Amino acid sequence: MTPQPVLVIGAGAAGIAAARRLRDLGRDCLVLEAGPRPGGRAVTDHSLGAPLDLGASWLHEAEHNPLTPLAQALGFTLHDTGRRRRDLLLTAAGEPATPEERAAWEAAADAFDAAAEAAVAAGSPDRPLAEVVPRGGPWDATAAHWLAAMINAAEAERTSLHDYVATGLGGWNPQVAEGVGTLLERLAEGLPIRTGAVVRRLRWGAAGVAAEGFGGPWRGAAAIVTVSTGVLAAGGIRFDPVLPPALRAAIAGLPLGLLSKVAFRAGPEAGRLGLGDFARLGRQVAGPDDSPMSWMLWPFGRDIAVGFLGGERAWALSRMGPASAEAAARAELARYFGADAVARAFPDRALATCWGEDPCFLGAYSHALPGAARARGLLRDAAPAAGRLRFAGEACHVRFAATVGGAWSSGEHAAEAVHAALG
Ligand SMILES: Cc1cc2nc3c(=O)[nH]c(=O)nc-3n(C[C@H](O)[C@H](O)[C@H](O)COP(=O)(O)OP(=O)(O)OC[C@H]3O[C@@H](n4cnc5c(N)ncnc54)[C@H](O)[C@@H]3O)c2cc1C
Repeated sequence: MTPQPVLVIGAGAAGIAAARRLRDLGRDCLVLEAGPRPGGRAVTDHSLGAPLDLGASWLHEAEHNPLTPLAQALGFTLHDTGRRRRDLLLTAAGEPATPEERAAWEAAADAFDAAAEAAVAAGSPDRPLAEVVPRGGPWDATAAHWLAAMINAAEAERTSLHDYVATGLGGWNPQVAEGVGTLLERLAEGLPIRTGAVVRRLRWGAAGVAAEGFGGPWRGAAAIVTVSTGVLAAGGIRFDPVLPPALRAAIAGLPLGLLSKVAFRAGPEAGRLGLGDFARLGRQVAGPDDSPMSWMLWPFGRDIAVGFLGGERAWALSRMGPASAEAAARAELARYFGADAVARAFPDRALATCWGEDPCFLGAYSHALPGAARARGLLRDAAPAAGRLRFAGEACHVRFAATVGGAWSSGEHAAEAVHAALG
């Protein structure tokens, strides 16, 4: 009798990495992917005339990122654009920031992270990040908006202090010219991936696993579940028997935040708006309800402008649909260039991402809620049914959570653990 394969549920970074590692270990696997393609939250779009990553686009902390050597070996082009650079920084009054104001913004961002690190070093219990960071200074709200709502995809009030510090990123931060989505597609080549396979129910036990859903059923010796914690928390897969309470609590403690992108293709009259390649735009938070977008224009010299919006305002616009996201993005750009120039530069409809509404994802990437700093380790180490059920994905990485590299490592880790458990 042929041995049953390991079922890998989801063909994002974690699922692809798990399948590659299982293959290397000589273990059969079958990857069940609900969507039409591998890559998950890393996908490269070409509809604006050039590659554009709708999900992951930076290889964060590339010197420690498992995807860096893989990208380099395949001849992909990596380009670092600097982490907090601002070519155009507007003050709350709508004026270009002076050198002193720029220095104050930099200092506020540094102080935000320093305060969080100091609180952890001083033995603070896990609590909302917002409780320990500076407040009231002219750039403090801007630092909080950038570092929490934008980069962490969730406001500091909803973010675990300990998880924020444990998962902070630094170092080399390149983008991939051909696209991170293209890279994952290449890395998925030759793997046994079944697309359009939507798993709705997973029976698990010491004798093995059985997945049911669209295109199924499928039986396996073990399963590695890599779907997002957003999908898991929403009951996208029903577990039979239900997962132990500690595991369910860990999943609930790691909700997905939202980062959205709105991209425009420049028309012939854009004239690059006077800015060079990879130009970064940002502005000071102007009041309690202000949530600025930030921008990257002309990445890799392409005729594309990409706006980024994170946190609660991203969720609100996502619920309202792409037309609202585009209107908001045009209004944001108008603050820098005026509405007429924006209309001339970008005559076509925008491309707006919808990660929050897509049932395959239900958000962008995870953050730990205050008090849930240990949830990632718990999910990573959970091994019910004598290790025949494992979880992997960005939410399971205690250091590189929320990243494509973290998802990759966690998939490899789960594959090795399942291989060992099966003996
Ligand atoms: C807008 C945005 C920007 C980002 N920027 C960066 C960045 O610059 N750098 C970075 O490192 N990271 C970034 N990230 C995060 C990064 O993309 C993710 O952390 C990573 O790709 C997650 O991989 P994963 O394998 O854990 O999950 P996923 O990619 O979500 O893979 C899970 C797979 O499971 C599938 N699935 C879901 N439900 C089912 C089901 N019921 N049955 C079968 N299959 C199912 C999904 O379709 C998906 O393909 C960004 C994400 C977003 C959305």
